[in-house]
Amino acid sequence: MSTTATAKPPVTQLNSEQINRYKRHLILPEVGMEGQKKLLNAKVLCIGAGGLGCPISLYLAAAGVGTIGLADVDVVSPSNLQRQILFGVSSIGEDKVHAAAKRLKDVNPDCNVIEHKTVVNSGNVMDLIRDYDIVIDGTDNFPTRYCVGDACVLQKKPNVYGSIFRFEGMVTVFAPHLKNPDTGEQGPCYRCLYPEPPDPGSVPSCAEGGVLGVLPGIIGTLQANEVLKLILGIGKPAIGRLVTFNALDMEFRNFKIRRDPTCPVCGTNPTITAPVDYEQFCGVPILDPKSLEETKQEVQNAKSGAKGESGRAAPDPSLDARGLPPGYQFKPDWEVTPREVKSKLDKGEKFVLIDCRLPNEYQITHIEGATLIPLQQIGQHFAQLKPHAGEEVIVHCRSGARSLQFTQLLRQQGFKNVKSMAGGILLWNKDVNPGGPQY
Ligand SMILES: [Zn+2]
Repeated sequence: MSTTATAKPPVTQLNSEQINRYKRHLILPEVGMEGQKKLLNAKVLCIGAGGLGCPISLYLAAAGVGTIGLADVDVVSPSNLQRQILFGVSSIGEDKVHAAAKRLKDVNPDCNVIEHKTVVNSGNVMDLIRDYDIVIDGTDNFPTRYCVGDACVLQKKPNVYGSIFRFEGMVTVFAPHLKNPDTGEQGPCYRCLYPEPPDPGSVPSCAEGGVLGVLPGIIGTLQANEVLKLILGIGKPAIGRLVTFNALDMEFRNFKIRRDPTCPVCGTNPTITAPVDYEQFCGVPILDPKSLEETKQEVQNAKSGAKGESGRAAPDPSLDARGLPPGYQFKPDWEVTPREVKSKLDKGEKFVLIDCRLPNEYQITHIEGATLIPLQQIGQHFAQLKPHAGEEVIVHCRSGARSLQFTQLLRQQGFKNVKSMAGGILLWNKDVNPGGPQY
């Protein structure tokens, strides 16, 4: 396996196989033989081999981009397959960069795929991007976006940026060293658009908020289009222009974005001249330990069919003696464990069990006998709940945060005996209903 982007001799002439493969390009005067050679000699780095990285790298490989670096530390998990079209069931558990490289080589043997199985951070980003002409940001977390954004400014590499959430996405090309083709002004960088990271936890991820499977296909393909234009030097790159797409309205919108002369990295007097600590800057880790654990679990379940040796699913062995995750800060005044709830149900004890999630979540997995009252609608249900104010009430949600809020609100309404189920139905499905859905 080659590990640098400089391993390939330049293509000076296309062989007959290549002429046949690329003839739809060669017949375009804007591409032609010279353009195809530019593509074959181009070196692009795609950071993230997920929803965006899949269509980006597939189309770039098919187009004949000669060197594609892929940086990702993840393995393929079953819930990736809803949108990450490089992968199939046979790649579950494999390193994404490796599974991707196999598929891309199959699409086009001309393409040299370089696997960077690594987290991109301030320690390695400068070396990582050095040998590439263009960097593509297909990541899903803020520390990496700032890290990639800064490094691209420092090394004068175009940063073809895309992001997606639920039904909406956006694309732009950050390149302060290049000019907005319409205005002739220098383009902005990522920090010009987002000077400050969002408050930790304030912006939900796709794992938390969901994403329509086709959306990364649309946004990633637009990013691939910008990459091809930059390599070929044709058309107008989206420098100084942010394009948003709404899948529900089928609407594209254009926004002018400008370089901030006081930007700490691309401004007139930069204060950031080397990568900084991006986890500290954003207040969140690059790798979310919860999602890492979830991936591990998903892969394990897929491999074993979620069954223990007895043929039945086994409780998660990492849980402690009370069925709580290691290190869980249990609040006895406010919480009960899923195991305690199960025992009450088994004994036929009389109590009110409330599920405070949304109906679509209830449909994924629920506990028999629970009454669905979404947290958002609690106000409309006080009257219905009031007669139970003297009874024992247990509230649960997905992972235990919303149910604590619900519990607080009920106590404010005079409910004396109300508690939240620790860890929510996800923990329930690990301990008392092992093998039950995790989402
Ligand atoms: Zn800037």
